[in-house]
Amino acid sequence: MAKRGLLLCVCQGTCPSFQKMNIFEVANTLRREKLVDYVAIHPQLCARDGDQFLGTLLAGGGTDHLYVAACDPTMQLKMFRDALREAGFSEEKVSGVDIRNMSTEQAVAAIKALIQVPEAER
Ligand code: SF4
Repeated sequence: MAKRGLLLCVCQGTCPSFQKMNIFEVANTLRREKLVDYVAIHPQLCARDGDQFLGTLLAGGGTDHLYVAACDPTMQLKMFRDALREAGFSEEKVSGVDIRNMSTEQAVAAIKALIQVPEAER
C-alpha cells in the first residue's frame, strides 16, 4: 500500500538555523497525529549517504508522496534531483518546506500546512 512519508533534515544538528526547535518533538507531534505514514530524521540528506538513503527509501515504490522539512524547497529539489531520478521517483511527488529558524511549534505548523494543502494546489 502506498504511503505518505515525512523526512526532517537538520544540517547535522549543528547549524544555528535548527537550534530553536526540538526536532524530535517536531517528529513526535506529527507521528502522534498520524498525518503521515512514517517520519524519519536524517542528519544530512544532501550528502552522499543522503542520496543513498533517498534511493533506498524510494526505489521500492512503497512511498506515494514524500514531504521534506529542511532548508529551502527549491534548493532541496536541486540537491535531491539525481537521487530521485535514479530511484525513479518523480519530483512531482516531493513537497518541501523550509523550517529553518523556526521554533518547535512554528515548524510543526509549517509542516502541517504543507501536508494539508490539496495535491492539486502543490
Ligand atoms: S538538505 Fe538542506 S537541511 Fe539538509 S543538510 Fe542539506 S542543506 Fe542542510
